[in-house]
Order: sequence, then structure tokens, then C-alpha cells
Amino acid sequence: MAIFGETCGCRGCVPPLSLRTGLHWKSDMLEFTIDHRWRLTVLSSIFSLVMLVCNATSSLADEATVVAIVDCTVFDPVAEVLVPHQTIVIRGSLIESVGESDPSSQFPTDAVVIDGRGKFALPGLIDAHVHLVHVSDFARVTGDELLPLFLAAGVTSVRSTGDEIVAATLVARFAERHPESSPRVFTCSPLLDADPPIHRDIGRAVTDPEEVPALLDDLQKWNVTTLKIYARTQRDVGRAIIEEGHRRGLMVTAHLGAYSAQEAVADGIDCLEHIWSVFNDVIPEDVAKEPGYRGRLEFDTPLCEALLEDLAERKTFVDPTLTVFRNMILLPDVPEVYDHPDNQLAPQRLRDFWPLYLAKTGCPQGGELEDRQREFAKFQELTGRLYRAGVPLLVGTDSPEPQVTPGFSLHQELELLVESGVPVAAALRAATLNNATVLQQEEHLGTLAPGKLADIVLLTANPLEEIRNTRKIELVIRDGIITRPEDVLKLAPSD
Ligand SMILES: [Zn+2]
Repeated sequence: MAIFGETCGCRGCVPPLSLRTGLHWKSDMLEFTIDHRWRLTVLSSIFSLVMLVCNATSSLADEATVVAIVDCTVFDPVAEVLVPHQTIVIRGSLIESVGESDPSSQFPTDAVVIDGRGKFALPGLIDAHVHLVHVSDFARVTGDELLPLFLAAGVTSVRSTGDEIVAATLVARFAERHPESSPRVFTCSPLLDADPPIHRDIGRAVTDPEEVPALLDDLQKWNVTTLKIYARTQRDVGRAIIEEGHRRGLMVTAHLGAYSAQEAVADGIDCLEHIWSVFNDVIPEDVAKEPGYRGRLEFDTPLCEALLEDLAERKTFVDPTLTVFRNMILLPDVPEVYDHPDNQLAPQRLRDFWPLYLAKTGCPQGGELEDRQREFAKFQELTGRLYRAGVPLLVGTDSPEPQVTPGFSLHQELELLVESGVPVAAALRAATLNNATVLQQEEHLGTLAPGKLADIVLLTANPLEEIRNTRKIELVIRDGIITRPEDVLKLAPSD
């Protein structure tokens, strides 16, 4: 019996890894012999992985590998409670059992046994709003370079919300071949927008509802899970995307603009991205003429109450992405944002690009600092109201937009949700079960239960006592593969 973290007992590291992941060193290395920098990255990656495998002992072995996390406290996102004295048994990539700890339990002699006393197990976190091509493409960072940052932060799956489809598919394939360093990637359509699309690098013009079936025929060949309507889409096209998408079993989300929230909700949209997609449609016409109205908007109005009621009744998910509004749009010039320690973890090329992109996109937006702070407080107030009205929330970040570091920004988003009045347990449910639900993966992800994929974040402190404790990560397990955040971080480039 190997005790994780206490013994090495390495038994020929590379062959078990190859077996476990279907990864072949030779062909994988060929992918990266493009230039000297890449060769160095690969060599250091291999070194780190060998170290990782030595640390993780048999965790990277075949499907017969058993891992037991003994006597930990498990977070149950359905009941939103912690359940103490639980033992989680993992076989291969799946959770075999979760139940009350029994001191007489016997595990196979080669099982990896992790002492869970004083530890807290969360289902793997999911970021519901990322881009693995957009923004990083301008900064000359490839999406695969960002993947270790997510995993090191406990994010074991991500939902792409609009990217160039060929490049995004390549990143998703890379992630599938590298579960030891990457979250699972679920792809999305490009941004379905008017002509010309706002973002020409990742947008696609759709101007006629009749075009929609052929467009979806094409997108389904790429295995997208989500369709995303963008800001200039008109209602007739938006409705056609929702109806045709639903006929094909796809989820439809939107960053709204021309198509109002009231219309999109009535037409059956599944999710709304960004608090803007609600906020901008609860502003009475006469109020919009007043200077500084955004920071003084009242929500006790029939317009706002009616929309919140509709969202709650139809169970339309809202993904506020507060982090990007604070860190990029409204308050990028505030020291607690631009000096945030999370920023230091992003590759230097991305950090160098962020100020250029802020300038190019005219951020900060919204006038004087005080006005911007008031507006952000209103975004948080509306988020709290959405929660209290019974609207299901998602947790997404819009990483890697400026100062929104992949993976670690999900913890910032959790902190901002809690500050907005969302109870800690509800925020954690949103980042796990709700996010798994919009990926239509609730059978496989989102809770710790038998038969589900073994995606687990093991914390050393109680997250319900303090949301920042979600950052105190000892181990991240994806697909049954055990990693330590500090080892995975070494796989992300600093340059
Ligand atoms: Zn986005």
C-alpha cells in the first residue's frame, strides 16, 4: 500500500503514463520541435512530469489503479453541505464509492491511500466562460500554454464561450491527450453575430434565419456543446439559433445587445453571459438620459422585477463574469486589480499584452473612478438579487481577458459572488453542479458520486468558513490522475 506524499516507490514512470493516457512520447515530442523555445518547454515538461509521476506513484497506472482518500470531508453541491468522515475510492478514472469512513476497510496492496483527515474534497471546479484562442492569439500565446494554469487552480473542466473553431478544437484535443496538465475542454461555436461581426477573429456573420440549419450542420461536425449568440444578432436570427440548437440537443447562450434579455428569455435561451446581459435591459428609457445613471440604477422597478421573475421561472442560467468587469472593463487601474498576485502567474507575453489591449478596447470605461466603482457595486447588487430571486447562477471568468488570469481568476469570481450576497455553498454549487449542468455533463461531473469521473480538488481548509480557502489546494485530481498544483504550475511558461 502506497501512502501518497510519503513514499516514492516509482515503478518505471513513463510506460504507465503512456498506457494511462494513450500518450506517446515520441509523437508528442514531434509536435513541439518547431523552435528552440518549444524544445526547452517540452524537456522541462517531461522532467516535471517524471517528477510528478515519481510523486504520484501508481496514480498514473492503468484502469485497475485504486486511490482511496480516507476520512475526508466532502462537499455535496446538491444539499449545499459538508459531509464529514467520508472515504472516496477511485478506480482508474472513475469514482467507485463515496461513503462513511470505516477503519476496517481494506484496499488493494498497491492502492494509493491519501490521508483525508482535516481535508475537504470538492468536485473539480469548472470555469463556465473562457477563451482559449481569442486574446491569447493577439498576445502570441497558444491556448495549450494556458491549460496548466487552470488545472493548478483546481479547474478540471472549462467551457469555451466562443473561439475560432479549428484552433479551439486543436487545444481541446491537446487537453484530452494531457489530462496530467490540462482541464477538460468543451468547445463552443464562434460568436454568431451580425455582418460584419464585432470580433472578426472569432465571430461569424449570420443574417438570415434560413442559414441556421446549414450553419449548425457544419458546427456539429466540430462537436461543439454550446452555441453562442453575440451582441449584434437580431431577434429573428437569435430565435432560429435557439430553436434549431434545441432540436439538435445543443445549449444556447448569449452575450446580448440588439436582442433583448426579455426577448431571448421568452424565446427559450438557456444561459446569459455577463451581468450586462441582464443589467442593460432593466434600464428604463427615461433613466438612461441621466448622467451617471448606471451607478445609481434602482432595481425595485416593475421592469427589473418582471425580468428576474421570468429568469427564475424558466430557470435561465446567468453567468455574471464579475471578474472581467472589475479587472478589465471598469477598474483595471486600481492597484488591488493590477497588482493582484494572480496576475504574476500568467505568461509574460500575456501580461505585456494586457495594457495594450486595455488601451485598444478603451478600458477603463464609465468615466471617473467613483462612477465606475458605483457601477461595479450595482453589478454586484444585481447579482445578489438574481440569486435571491431563484435565478440559477454560473461561475465564469472570461479569462484570459486583461488581468483575468486563467484558473486563478475563478477563485476571484467566487470571492466576488460571495461579496455580492451569494452564500458560499451556493457559489460552490454554481462552480461545480450548475456549470456541469450547462455542459450537459451532470451524469459525469459536478458532484462526487459513484460512477462519476474522478475530478476532485482536495483542500487543506474549510471552504464554507472562508471562500478564499478554495485556494488552499493540496491535490488536484482529474480523471483519477493525481497532481500537485506546484508541479502543474511548472508546466506553464513564465515567458
Ligand atoms: Zn467572453
